[in-house]
Amino acid sequence: MKTFPIEKLFEVINETTEILQEELKCTYLEALAETGDNLFHQKVMQAELSELTEKRLAKKYSEIQLSAYHNEEIRKAYQFAILKGMKNHVQQNHQMTPDTIGYFISYLLPKFMNGKNEIRLLDHAAGTGNLLTTILNKKAPDVNMHAYAVEVDDILIRLAYTGANLLMHPIELFHQDGLGPLLIDPVDAVVCDLPVGYYPNDERAAEFTLKSDEGHSYAHHLFIEQGLNYTKPGGYLFFLIPNDLFETKEAPKLKQFLKETAYIQAVLQLPFSMFANSQAAKSIFIIQKKKPGIKPPQEVLLAALPKLSNKEALDKILVKMEKWFQENK
Ligand code: SAM
Repeated sequence: MKTFPIEKLFEVINETTEILQEELKCTYLEALAETGDNLFHQKVMQAELSELTEKRLAKKYSEIQLSAYHNEEIRKAYQFAILKGMKNHVQQNHQMTPDTIGYFISYLLPKFMNGKNEIRLLDHAAGTGNLLTTILNKKAPDVNMHAYAVEVDDILIRLAYTGANLLMHPIELFHQDGLGPLLIDPVDAVVCDLPVGYYPNDERAAEFTLKSDEGHSYAHHLFIEQGLNYTKPGGYLFFLIPNDLFETKEAPKLKQFLKETAYIQAVLQLPFSMFANSQAAKSIFIIQKKKPGIKPPQEVLLAALPKLSNKEALDKILVKMEKWFQENK
């Protein structure tokens, strides 16, 4: 039977992860980060393994050559393994950003950046880094992107670190609260699949305009404010938001805050079929941080995005978007 490259790569990643999981008595995701390190350094890095296990691993790694794969193949094989490890173990809110969303944002980002070829990009809730690495894989060759990833979960940031190494992407990683002070100069663009829910740290929340008047504040509102704080005037922010963002009781404050600080550019509703149920459905929300001399778009780009497989509907939307860009950018 013919083995396709990506399948072979996944097989090696998966089998060596299982061997390490067994030997190191750890979770699949922890073992996956270890095997990713081994693949990157091209040697077995875990000193505590028996000689036999080390030989088994080395033999398995020798079946592939990472340099023979395209970056998208490496990202996908690694992503399949992460999805396997996350199955039943990761809460909905911490899921990896699906590829369709990454592809849409990869298409939109350069259009808004308007020919800029040095871009500093921040994701302050970066998870596994899948959204960032999708964008970095898809960027035009003449564009230099330097990315910053902030994530509070120790295993997810490890996976993001290993993924960035395997793909040779220049991502600086910060293992910390994405709502804490960040040692990052303002960036040209922010991308963030917002963690939706309450932020437990009321003391820190009190430093944000969008803090709640009583009880815990909405983390997703604070993440929008934090994103704006770390964006240069005139920079763009691409958020994945829950569809009911502007319908909750805290929404009026958010609307007022956005009116004062940013220009809303686009709200693109993602196909419902991508989500477990309609309550979980999300949109891509694009804003520009205000800067003297910059005008708002004549009209906000509003669209319901079709499934990527629905070529006819997709072409129609792309034509509508192109027209919007011509008239507004
Ligand atoms: N884009 C990511 C990817 O492709 O893997 C997925 C992001 S996921 C929807 C939201 C992430 O926010 C989760 O990884 C979660 O651990 C992280 N998160 C939640 N609260 C956070 C906080 N206060 N600071 C930093 N990260 C946080």
